[in-house]
Amino acid sequence: TADLIIINTCAVRAGAENKVYGEIGRLKKYKYHNPDLVIALGGCMAQEETTVEKVLQAIPHIDIVFGTHNLHKLPEYLHGVMAEKRRVIEVFSEEGRIIEEIPAARNSRYKAWVNIMYGCDEFCSYCIVPYTRGKERSRSPEHILSEVEVLIKAGYKEITLLGQNVNSYGLDLEDPDIDFPNLLARLNAMPIPRIRFTTSHPKDFSAALIEVLARGGNLMPHIHLPVQSGSDRILKAMNRKYTSADYLELVNRIHDRIPGISLTTDLIVGFPGETESDFEQTLDLVRKARFEGAYTFIYSKREGTPAASYPDDIDGMTKKNRLYRLNEIVNEGYRQGNLRFQGEVVEVLVEGPSKTNPDLLSGYTRNNKLVNFPGPDDLIGRIVPIRIKTARTWSLIGEPTNE
Ligand code: SAH
Ligand code: SF4
Repeated sequence: TADLIIINTCAVRAGAENKVYGEIGRLKKYKYHNPDLVIALGGCMAQEETTVEKVLQAIPHIDIVFGTHNLHKLPEYLHGVMAEKRRVIEVFSEEGRIIEEIPAARNSRYKAWVNIMYGCDEFCSYCIVPYTRGKERSRSPEHILSEVEVLIKAGYKEITLLGQNVNSYGLDLEDPDIDFPNLLARLNAMPIPRIRFTTSHPKDFSAALIEVLARGGNLMPHIHLPVQSGSDRILKAMNRKYTSADYLELVNRIHDRIPGISLTTDLIVGFPGETESDFEQTLDLVRKARFEGAYTFIYSKREGTPAASYPDDIDGMTKKNRLYRLNEIVNEGYRQGNLRFQGEVVEVLVEGPSKTNPDLLSGYTRNNKLVNFPGPDDLIGRIVPIRIKTARTWSLIGEPTNE
């Protein structure tokens, strides 16, 4: 029954793109039922030239294509299609300045995402993001802090600061005093109960950042720190600019300074040229780093990136097998990470009924562990103490407590 369908896309892996093409095909029939239906395609895929060409040549039922740099013009494009009956295909090649004051649709009343920067200057050799998102651009601290103030007034309990590499926040701004540790220190003094951030590049994780995080308070004890591989040869080919020893040394410094913190990561298997020995070095690093969770991926070739021209010599079965072996160890990390809270009292921000059992409530701890527990609905939106009874691999089971 919708009059407007907007497909917001990701281009990081081919799998996501294929799903979008499947979905676009599926939507075609709705045009027959409702000729006024408008279908728009936006996001990172739309930013790729190959997508625009495909739509122009073969997908006439898409009415609007807009990229990541001209999101703010969507109302104008809708007017073009709805009032003037013209098709609008417009993608800017340059990132331009940051457009502030675009309204946000929030999908939770308690947790909110806050962008602190856009784009990426890293150019990891496998990754399409620097091409679809453009150069790194930081928002001013004033814009960020005033967005957080609005969220606090609206009753939000948790914010997650977003950027492709939050550790390089502010480096593009004129004021040399503005950087990520400094931004966190300012947020640390604000009455928002929980602050998280994602994602951190290991090479820019400074001593100053560790010191700020060690203050605790509303800065949550969980860091997502993508390592990608444990082989120095592969890390170099990926252009990650650190070695496995650098990474483990950083992990140890973080654990020493912030006892009890949880670390999670991203890992890629089957990067071009990855040998069995390279892969075993990844397994070894995963064991040593004591990760409590990870997103694991099979390498996906992205046209336009440097790695796309490296010979992709590993067969599909080997890639799947490596992913499986890696996940076994990663899953054990999830389990160990949950087990250490068995019998403990943890603070949970209650989000609502559990997705797997509507009779239970669910929410996340300071360390970002999922907890399910019985309780009255008036706990929703509050941070409450829960005693953990059982630790499972993917979740904790507990009960409200007054301790
Ligand atoms: N800026 C973030 C990551 C953004 S993409 C960072 O650097 O940490 C999220 C994850 O997708 C990456 O960490 C990487 O593990 C994975 N990824 C990116 N490009 C990929 C590709 N071509 N194939 C497989 N996984 C990829
Ligand atoms: Fe991609 Fe690397 Fe930038 Fe992350 S840091 S978005 S992996 S280029």
